[in-house]
Amino acid sequence: MSKKRGNNTEFLQNLTISQVLKLYKQRGLPEREALILIGYAMNKPKEFVIAHDDLICPEGAINLLEKRLNGYPLQYIIGEVEFYGRRFFVEEGVLIPRWETEGLVDIAIEYIKNYDLKYALDIGVGSGVILVTLALETGIKVFGTDVSEKAINVTLKNAKRYNVECEVKLGEFAEPFIERFDSIQLIISNPPYVREGAKLQKELDFEPKQALFGGEDGLNFYRIFFNRYNIDGKIVVMEIGEDQGEVLRQLTGGIIRKDLAGKDRYLIVDRYNK
Ligand code: SAM
Ligand code: GLN
Repeated sequence: MSKKRGNNTEFLQNLTISQVLKLYKQRGLPEREALILIGYAMNKPKEFVIAHDDLICPEGAINLLEKRLNGYPLQYIIGEVEFYGRRFFVEEGVLIPRWETEGLVDIAIEYIKNYDLKYALDIGVGSGVILVTLALETGIKVFGTDVSEKAINVTLKNAKRYNVECEVKLGEFAEPFIERFDSIQLIISNPPYVREGAKLQKELDFEPKQALFGGEDGLNFYRIFFNRYNIDGKIVVMEIGEDQGEVLRQLTGGIIRKDLAGKDRYLIVDRYNK
C-alpha cells in the first residue's frame, strides 16, 4: 500500500475493478462515473472496463477516482462535456455547460429561423457551446465575447473542432464588437447570475467565480447590459436564475419562459420590429 496516499482512497487499493465500483457506489456517486474514469485512465471504452472488471484497478484510475471523490468535476478530469448532442472541450477556468442552457439555445434557434436572422452575438462564451451550436444548427454568423482569456481560447478550440467560423474577442459585454453592433440581430447570453454568498454544491468550488456570481442580488450583468445598450431592432435571449423572472420582466418588458424542470429560466426581449 502506498504511504503518501491519504485515508480517502486507501480503501480502493489492490482491489479488482468490480470491487472498486461497488465501493465507489457506496460513497454515493454514480457507478457510471467510475466506469468512465477507469476507462479514461486505461485508455479504453467503458464497455471494456465492464467486460474486464476482474482486473486489478490500475493506480492511475484510483488517482482520478480520488479527485472525483473530493468533488473535482468529472468533466474537468476527462476534459470534455456533452452539449446538444456533441462533445466539447472544457478545462478548469471555464464553466461546465449546464443542461438548462440547451433550452436557451432552443429558443434562439426558434427566433433565428422565424426571423431568418444572419448575425448573432454570444456574450460570455465560456467554452463556446452556445456559439458553436447555433452556428452548426442554423448557419448564422456568430460573434462572441468573454472577459476571460481562457474562455476565448477554449471557444476557439471548440470552434476549430467543428469547423465553425466565428469571431471571438476578449472584453466585456458587447464592447469588442461595438463598431458592428447595429448589424447584430440576436444577442444571446448565459451570464453570471448567482447571488454573492449563495451556498452551492461542492463541484462549483472548482469553477470560475466570474462565470457564476452576479453581485449581491445576482442581477448586475442584466442591469448594466440593459442600461448600456439600445436593443431596438434586436432580440435578446438570456438565461436567468429561477427567482429572477419577475424583476427582470419588469426591468426589460420582456417575457419569461420556463426550463424543463418548470422553473423560470429564460428571458426574451423581442424588439426586432421596434
Ligand atoms: N456561455 C457559457 C455556457 O453557457 O456554458 C458560459 C456561461 S458562464 C455562466 C458566464 C461567462 O460570462 C463566463 O465565461 C464569464 O467569464 C463571462 N462573463 C462574465 N461577465 C462578463 C461580461 N461583463 N462580459 C463578457 N463576459 C462576461
Ligand atoms: N446554473 C448555474 C448554477 O447555479 C449558474 C450559471 C450561471 O450563473 N449562469 O449551477
